Amino acid sequence: MSERTLRVTGRLGLHARAAANLVRVANQFQSTVTLHRLDNSVEADAKSILSILMLAASRGTNLLIVAVGIDEVTALEAVCDLFARNFDEPEIGERQPIAVQEELRCKGLGVSEGIVLGRVLRLQDGTRDVYRAEIDGADLERERRRFRAAVRLSRRQLETIKERAEKELGRGHAYIFDAHLLFLEDAKLTRDVEDYIVKERANAEWAAKVVGDRLLSIYMQINDEYLRERGSDIEDVIQRLLANLTGEGRSHPKLSEDAVIVAQDLLPSTIAELDLNHVRAIATDSGGWTSHMSIIARGLGLTAVVGLRDFYYRTRTGDQIIVDAQRGEVILNPLAATVERYEFTAQTSSPTVTVAPQGVSGPVTTKNGIEIALRANVELPTEFEAIRRFGACGVGLFRSEFLLSRPGLLLSEDEQFGSYRALAEAAGPEGAVIRLFDLGGETGYELSDRPERNPALGLRAIRFGLKNAKVMRSQVRAILRAAKFGNLRLVIPMVADVADIRRAKKIIAEELASLSNEGVEHAQVKIGAMVEIPSAVLTADKIAAEVDFFELGTNDLVQYTLAVDRGNDHVSEWFRTLHPAVLFGINRTLQVALDSGIPTIVCGEMASTPAYVVLLVGLGAVDLSMTPAAIPRVRSTLAQIDTAEAEVLAKRCLQCAIADEVEDIVRTEFRIRWPQLFPPKALPAQLAD
Ligand code: PEP
Ligand code: MG
Repeated sequence: MSERTLRVTGRLGLHARAAANLVRVANQFQSTVTLHRLDNSVEADAKSILSILMLAASRGTNLLIVAVGIDEVTALEAVCDLFARNFDEPEIGERQPIAVQEELRCKGLGVSEGIVLGRVLRLQDGTRDVYRAEIDGADLERERRRFRAAVRLSRRQLETIKERAEKELGRGHAYIFDAHLLFLEDAKLTRDVEDYIVKERANAEWAAKVVGDRLLSIYMQINDEYLRERGSDIEDVIQRLLANLTGEGRSHPKLSEDAVIVAQDLLPSTIAELDLNHVRAIATDSGGWTSHMSIIARGLGLTAVVGLRDFYYRTRTGDQIIVDAQRGEVILNPLAATVERYEFTAQTSSPTVTVAPQGVSGPVTTKNGIEIALRANVELPTEFEAIRRFGACGVGLFRSEFLLSRPGLLLSEDEQFGSYRALAEAAGPEGAVIRLFDLGGETGYELSDRPERNPALGLRAIRFGLKNAKVMRSQVRAILRAAKFGNLRLVIPMVADVADIRRAKKIIAEELASLSNEGVEHAQVKIGAMVEIPSAVLTADKIAAEVDFFELGTNDLVQYTLAVDRGNDHVSEWFRTLHPAVLFGINRTLQVALDSGIPTIVCGEMASTPAYVVLLVGLGAVDLSMTPAAIPRVRSTLAQIDTAEAEVLAKRCLQCAIADEVEDIVRTEFRIRWPQLFPPKALPAQLAD
């Protein structure tokens, strides 16, 4: 036996990267190498990263290193050498440990209303519900093999991620995946899971969850704040294993009463899967005002702050958090005084969902007698009841792709038929416009596992449909069948020109003919085009000749006209809804539709925002579709507006050269003309003084 006493001198103690290096060195020898804390009896196997981390050896900890075996002398020498070299740690660029209870404030963009105090629930590609199943004795070996296969798959994934991280970010940033790989192969995890499967006759998912939770709970007891933070790495590995075991990719978490979902990015489908009774708020690293996650948060009345950059990595599940959407701010581990102040404000400012006054529904009539339709944008079947609650003239846009709750998962024709029929029935006589799947882009619903270099400009929307005709055909059939039960229209997303329309219409005509030949009940539907990219605006007259109506998607129109990614907070200052080029596109589209005798529904987020709505009607819009909860406010605004006045202002805006000038007109003139409607606080954040 060879032994030596050492002191941990590195600033961050024996953290994951140092531990990973130690495991690598210890594994080069046959001897066993153990580390013993001198201040308590905890010991660790130097070949197990989890075991080393459980030592919680922060700076200044004294350790006894013991090597036993044929090469014990060289093994001890090599380990001590590594300690002396401070684990080959770069001294610069280290993260400062977070002091306990340090209040951390981060600025982002508030995309809905309200202030919420809650507890963080980190959502890393989904934490999942895991169920226990009893496994027959004869099947236990198969269950263990299934677990080993999931470990192998996770290893391959991590190696790929690590390679990419090394290439793109440099070695220093990829180290964490070394640690993940070591966690994954650590006998403390793998042997314990396999033992658990056999001893408890449990399914592999349950065993992995129980062992993972056990490790995590021990880890959470660690006194050193920085080391304890690394628990999220263990959590990551367990989640990956569970995802690969279930083959689901991601899934729905069980939520405590006051969960605040903290994520880097949140797929709309993930929000759709959450138990919304328990979600209080959302805070994400990425995202902008028109990201789908923001749109849904507003639709559901959830308090949300997005664009928080690297906030996710600073949090742990269970941390106390304040989400202040009013100020576009989150506060992690708030001080008692801050909590007290916010507790008072939160009580008085939780998100207000205005409900339509009893009996008020249908179109609104402006002060000068112009009738304007107010329709609902709907993403989830849970929102169907909101159509009536907010007095909408039916559904102007059903984002059907949200029915596909997981990437890669498609619904059968019959399942879709059920949803579209329910929509047709809920929408009432005004009916509903169903958009063909707008897959790809920032929705993250790729059906391919190879990410596109530039998804917004890639195989998105109708391009996806045309390339995956089977998927498109089954959706078209489901819509045509459901049209028998109500007033349905169909709109083609993101068309570039007439060629897209003709190809789509050919498929629709073929499916109509098939349904007739098969004797399946169905009905004809009107066909519209989403106008949301510049080429469609520029050739709008040609497109108008081929369709029954236009839908103006202002979210994408801003994105594509200005070449600004709508979900990228780094360029959000260039995302200018009121850019004259955008107004020009809207104006031209509305004019072309008018001249061609077809209606236009304006359905982007502009239509949910009273100040922008005034400009839209000034440009000639008479049919708006918006987040249902926005309808009462837009209704009351339009009822007090004379569209002739709005038209004068809109014309002035069209003459501007830059967005600042348009915003200036809105800021000053709106206040003068309609002081009761647009006091400073009622303007969108971009226009605030
Ligand atoms: C739009 O682009 O404005 C629109 C209505 O569609 P989505 O936000 O789903 O892209
Ligand atoms: Mg769009």
